[in-house]
Amino acid sequence: MIKTHNEGLNTNELDLPIRQTTLSDSFGRVARKLRISLTDRCNMRCKYCMPQGNIKWFKNEDILTYDEIFRLVVILASLGIDRIRLTGGEPLLRPKLEDLVASLKRITPIKSISMTTNGLLLADKVKRLKEAGLDSVNISLDSFKPTRFKAITGTDGLEKVRDSIDAAVSVGLRVKINTVIVRGWNEDEIVDFVEFARNSGHIVRFIEFMPLDGEGIWQTNLVFSKNEMINIIIKNIGNIVPINAVTNSSDSMNMLNADPATLYCFADGKGIVGFIPSITEPFCNSCDRIRLTSDGKLLTCLFEKPGYDLRNILRAGISDHEIKKRLIANVKKKPEGIIRIIKSNKLEPSLNMMHRIGG
Ligand code: SAM
Ligand code: SF4
Repeated sequence: MIKTHNEGLNTNELDLPIRQTTLSDSFGRVARKLRISLTDRCNMRCKYCMPQGNIKWFKNEDILTYDEIFRLVVILASLGIDRIRLTGGEPLLRPKLEDLVASLKRITPIKSISMTTNGLLLADKVKRLKEAGLDSVNISLDSFKPTRFKAITGTDGLEKVRDSIDAAVSVGLRVKINTVIVRGWNEDEIVDFVEFARNSGHIVRFIEFMPLDGEGIWQTNLVFSKNEMINIIIKNIGNIVPINAVTNSSDSMNMLNADPATLYCFADGKGIVGFIPSITEPFCNSCDRIRLTSDGKLLTCLFEKPGYDLRNILRAGISDHEIKKRLIANVKKKPEGIIRIIKSNKLEPSLNMMHRIGG
């Protein structure tokens, strides 16, 4: 019985159909994309993400089941969410992930299902995922040098990740590469990554280091900015220009689907690179995503803590109608974002933990 959860609500409201079909916030932004973190666990220990020592994992019983995720996505799809990204932690640690992909794919308003992975386990599973309906994959890779790869990720998996990139292409998935550049760690490989993009045809998206690290190592001077990256590329390879300066077609931009990266191309037409300048050019004003953590919290912003607990209301037997109302109310309260934190000079390490909230 849902009685206790309806306290304080006008019961007449409960019977009324909810006319709202979108999730909008007080800054006029509308949520269209949902990132679902499937686990806080990972088979890597990237220094910019995971704590290196004792990690307090979510309890198994607190992790949302596939049925619970499906139910929430059905409700969210009725509120305008139409693109899903599966992430984590490492999403491929969840068994039978293809079952979840197949069930989400059946939700009619959902236009695409993508995944972000470290690639360690992808090669073996990629065919099943593609057959289940996965549309595209972002594979994280920060170095082509085995020793450095190990120093950053704590694993020897470089070859496996490279094999996964090939395996994903071979089954017909769209592939993008996510590369976090940290000053003093890997900026000397920017040119190699750009050459990789130009030779392979995969979009490489360079990401600025965000204070979402578990270890507390983030500092402003470790942030290698988008402008610095662009200067290196222009100096060593050639001029690049934003793609929207050369194409006005929103269809072709959608096809590339590199959001939130701003994409750039070269004069010779060979290769596309993207930048996610979360620190030096925050894109909060156009943010159209919300997040579901693996333990069932709704996060409307990467920097929101602790988030709204959906798991307990799901498990308390609350109706879809009521859940919908709470989703609408919580998205309405979405904070302005990192832009506000930067303006008020409050950037500091570990503002949240990427592996828990889902990058
Ligand atoms: N385990 C998967 C992976 O590594 O792709 C998915 C989860 S991971 C948290 C998602 C993305 O966030 C990865 O591309 C990773 O490089 C990025 N990331 C993690 N911590 C970050 C940080 N502090 N700043 C910027 N990007 C970060
Ligand atoms: Fe794991 Fe991805 Fe975080 Fe690396 S970035 S520790 S692979 S969740």
